[in-house]
Amino acid sequence: MLNKLIRLTGQNTIFPFYHTVSDVASAHIKHLYQSKKILDFEKDLDFLLSHYRPMDLADVISYINNGKKTEKPGFFLTFDDGLSEVYNHICPMLYRKGIPAAVFFNSAFVDNKGLFYRYKASILIEKLSESPHLVKNNAVVRWAGGKNKISDIKNTILNIRYAGTAELDSLAEILHVSFNDYLQKTKPYMTLDQISSIVQQGFYAGGHSIDHPEYYNLSQVEQLRQTNESIQYITDRHLSSEKLFAFPFSDTGVQSTFFTSAKIDLSFGTAGLKNDPIRHHLQRIPMEKGELSAKKLIINQYLYYILKSFFDKNTIRR
Ligand SMILES: [Zn+2]
Repeated sequence: MLNKLIRLTGQNTIFPFYHTVSDVASAHIKHLYQSKKILDFEKDLDFLLSHYRPMDLADVISYINNGKKTEKPGFFLTFDDGLSEVYNHICPMLYRKGIPAAVFFNSAFVDNKGLFYRYKASILIEKLSESPHLVKNNAVVRWAGGKNKISDIKNTILNIRYAGTAELDSLAEILHVSFNDYLQKTKPYMTLDQISSIVQQGFYAGGHSIDHPEYYNLSQVEQLRQTNESIQYITDRHLSSEKLFAFPFSDTGVQSTFFTSAKIDLSFGTAGLKNDPIRHHLQRIPMEKGELSAKKLIINQYLYYILKSFFDKNTIRR
């Protein structure tokens, strides 16, 4: 079935992306999305290997130089957010199987120096789930604008965006949650030494913005600062000779003029199986959708691609 879909759509090169793998859901992720179990992730890899050849960065660059075309079906794997499981579980497995990959880092979070605001949200929800009596606490109810049901407060927390990070910090104070303690105890992110060590093994490193804002809420000046500084963090430390970048969340709200101004050699979005008219920008397939296997997710992407082709919706417009 998949081989037929590849032939029918002509889309023989795919860019699946993940964040992490884990057999036990961590507090900073469990209320945001379901990551794959280690064994399920390995099954994903074996499925990919049975239909596509693993590409390295040179293959991706020649794919771009060839007008985003190759002869043989291929896949290039990437991982966003620079999480420690990538170092502990993913890279050793990829190394064993001979699969190249790129990892994208938020420069403010490397070495556990800071925490993504969405992870803060998940940690706060976990605290309220563990101690539900806190939901009736006056200060919490006040913080939530009068809401006192756990589901309503959870939604309030999850609806906060980057610009509202201070509101999460103030709820943390009310709940006696210390994000610094969490960072030191759990160490969700890779350290600079760990990044150096995977780069020495042949993995690629790139930027993922300074601290993971939604780009559609930023001015282009700020989009460029977030982008260039996070890439420079990597290149200044000789962790990559290519300027690689993956957009945080998505590239929604990013104008084509951004791509001519940004100091990027190669960048990645999250729009799924789509054609992108920007020459050095590639769209990736999100692979963490509940229990769905790589096989199901990728077949769905092809079927959706075929459906959208009737409406001419497979090419991104900016
Ligand atoms: Zn991210």
